[in-house]
Amino acid sequence: MNQVDYLRISLIDRCNFRCQYCMPEGSELDYILKQQLLTDEELLTLVQEVFIPVGFRQFRLTGGEPLLRPRVVDLVGAIASLPQTQDLSMTTNGFLLAPIAQNLYDAGLRRINISLDSLDPHIFDQIIGSHGRSRWQQVWDGIQAAHRVGFDPLKLNVVVIPGVNDHEILDLAALTIDKQWHVRFIEFMPIGNGELFGDRGWVSSAELRQQIRDRWGLTEAQVRGSGPADVFQIPGAKGTLGFISQMSECFCDRCNRMRLSADGWLRPCLLNETGQLDLKTSLRSGVSIPQLREQVRQLLAIKPEINYKGRDSGTTGVYSRTMSQIGG
Ligand code: SAM
Ligand code: SF4
Repeated sequence: MNQVDYLRISLIDRCNFRCQYCMPEGSELDYILKQQLLTDEELLTLVQEVFIPVGFRQFRLTGGEPLLRPRVVDLVGAIASLPQTQDLSMTTNGFLLAPIAQNLYDAGLRRINISLDSLDPHIFDQIIGSHGRSRWQQVWDGIQAAHRVGFDPLKLNVVVIPGVNDHEILDLAALTIDKQWHVRFIEFMPIGNGELFGDRGWVSSAELRQQIRDRWGLTEAQVRGSGPADVFQIPGAKGTLGFISQMSECFCDRCNRMRLSADGWLRPCLLNETGQLDLKTSLRSGVSIPQLREQVRQLLAIKPEINYKGRDSGTTGVYSRTMSQIGG
C-alpha cells in the first residue's frame, strides 16, 4: 500500500484572482468566515501533534491564495523548523510573491509552484478574470524574484484550456530550455467551472507531449518526484516538463496525500467527499489529541477504499466545490 505522508494545507479559501477554470466569474462562493478558519495555533497544533505523529512528513501550503493569509511567513517558519518536516512547499499564483520571496526562503521554504497559464498578458488577464490593469507583469516579477532567491525546484503550473491557451504550449515549454525551471501541464478537470469544461473540454497530456516531441524531441527525465507528474525533458534543456494527467490516467492507486481545508476539514480524496473529518470542531469542542490522532489513523486505514473509483467509467461528474475551496 502507498504510504500517505503528504498533506496539502489550505491556508485560506479566498483568492485575489478568479481563474476561469477555478472560480467562474459571476459565481458567488461562500467564503469561510474568519472565525471559522483554523487559527495559526490550531493549525500548528494539528501539524505537530496530530499529523506528524501519524506519519505525515511532507507539507504543501496552498489555498485559495496562500499569500493572502496573514503572517504566512511566520507559519512557514514554524512548519519548516519542525525536525520531522522533510519537505515544505507552496503553490501560489505569484501575484504577491516578489516582495516576500526572500522572507519565505529565509523562513525555510525551498520549493514553490507558481501558476502561469499564459505568456500573453492579455490572455492571462482573461484567464484570471482581471479587467483593470494587467496583472501579468507582477506575476512574472514574482517568478523572477523566486528564481533570484534560489527556490529549487521552481515549478510553473499551466492548466491547459482548449481554444484559450493551448496554442502557447510550445512557448511555455521553451521556458525550460535555458532555465532550470519545471513547467507542468495540468489537464483541465471538471471541478469548479463545469460550464467552461462542457464548452471547451480538455487536452490530454499525450497530445501535448506529441506537439513538443514534433518540435524538439522529448526524452523521459531521470527524476521522478513523489507527485503525480510524469516528467520529461527537451533534449539538452536545463529544466523539465511535467504532465499531470488526472483526466486521462488514473493515479489513485499511487495517491500519497490528504487535504486539510482552511476551516479544518480533513479530506482523504480530492474527488470523493466520503470520510471527511471536521478536525477544527473536534479540537474546539475538547476532543483530546490522542483521540484526534486515532481518528486520522482510522481514516488513513480506509483511504484506499475511498480513493476515487469512478475513473474506469470515465470522468463525467462536475464537482460543486472549487479547487480554491478544497485546497487544490
Ligand atoms: N492560488 C494558488 C494557485 O493558483 O497556484 C493555489 C491554489 S490553486 C486551487 C492550486 C492549483 O489548482 C493551481 O495550479 C490551479 O491551476 C489548479 N486548478 C484549479 N482549478 C483547476 C481545474 N479545474 N482543473 C485543473 N487544475 C485546477
Ligand atoms: Fe485563485 Fe489559484 Fe483558483 Fe486561480 S487557481 S482562482 S489563483 S485559487
